[in-house]
Amino acid sequence: MNKATIVGSINLDTNLRVHRMVKPGETIHGKEHYTAAGGKGANQAVATARAGTNTSFIGAVGNDGPGEQMLDLLKEEKIDVSGIEIIQNEPTGQAFIPIDDNGENSIMFYAGANYAFGTEEVAKNSSLIETNDFVIAQLETPIEATIKAFEIARSKNVKTILNPAPGESDLPEKLLKLTDMIIPNETEAETITGIEVNDETSAKKAAAKLHELGVEAVIITFGAKGAFYDFNGYSELVPAFKVKAVDTTAAGDTFIGYMIATLEKDFSNLREAILHGNKASSATVQRFGAQPSIPFKNEIN
Ligand code: ADP
Repeated sequence: MNKATIVGSINLDTNLRVHRMVKPGETIHGKEHYTAAGGKGANQAVATARAGTNTSFIGAVGNDGPGEQMLDLLKEEKIDVSGIEIIQNEPTGQAFIPIDDNGENSIMFYAGANYAFGTEEVAKNSSLIETNDFVIAQLETPIEATIKAFEIARSKNVKTILNPAPGESDLPEKLLKLTDMIIPNETEAETITGIEVNDETSAKKAAAKLHELGVEAVIITFGAKGAFYDFNGYSELVPAFKVKAVDTTAAGDTFIGYMIATLEKDFSNLREAILHGNKASSATVQRFGAQPSIPFKNEIN
């Protein structure tokens, strides 16, 4: 069984279904209200855990109800939450999401505690990284914290995986040098490299640039087309499963979780791991929501 540590964000999402989006200065009634666990870090932790990986988490919540709710949810998924700090003077990260009758949404969020942890908190929890196979980070938490986590990982031969989401154009060179595998989607790959990515040829160009910046393995996810990889002189677009998608939220997070659950530490079975990721995320896109749509291992096998 693989062991992975996620360094990332935890949010409570408040969703409000409305007939149409509100205009400035206007007040309207919502027709349904529900809360859900969110944050790319938490989603990826849930996906890795459901895929059968021994998962721990380094991050932060506030000393409040949403924080307690999120910790309970992660514990229910058998995720080790001992590396999650409870911050006194910041609330738990929260996102507010109106969704209209056409299924369009907008998101307003407050990062809160997600931005209130840094190198010290990561160093304090270094044992959670040192004993694992993989450490996985995104870009919804402070970059210095991720750099620290990757430095600890490198010193112990733990593989570092970066999902550079949401896309950012000026990632520190230092972070990329410490990254063993990067997993952007098409848009994020373009944001980082400045190369328009829309097919296998352009993906290969973007991958070459990422290799130049020091990343050994590149995977670019291509939505309904599948996932492209470029590693060790080989590259290929591994096709997605053909399904009827209803909501692609958490597709990328599921892909990463299931890919990591299968991946050998030397990346030697990368293609097989990608197939597993494609299969699991094809289940996610057939269901609504973020964490509720992430499948369990027995459903995929
Ligand atoms: P993100 O959610 O990060 O933007 P993608 O949309 O690229 O990521 O999706 C990640 C993976 O999910 C894809 O590589 C693919 O395997 C799967 N996937 C996404 N959309 C679909 C779809 N419409 N049909 C089947 N598989 C899909």
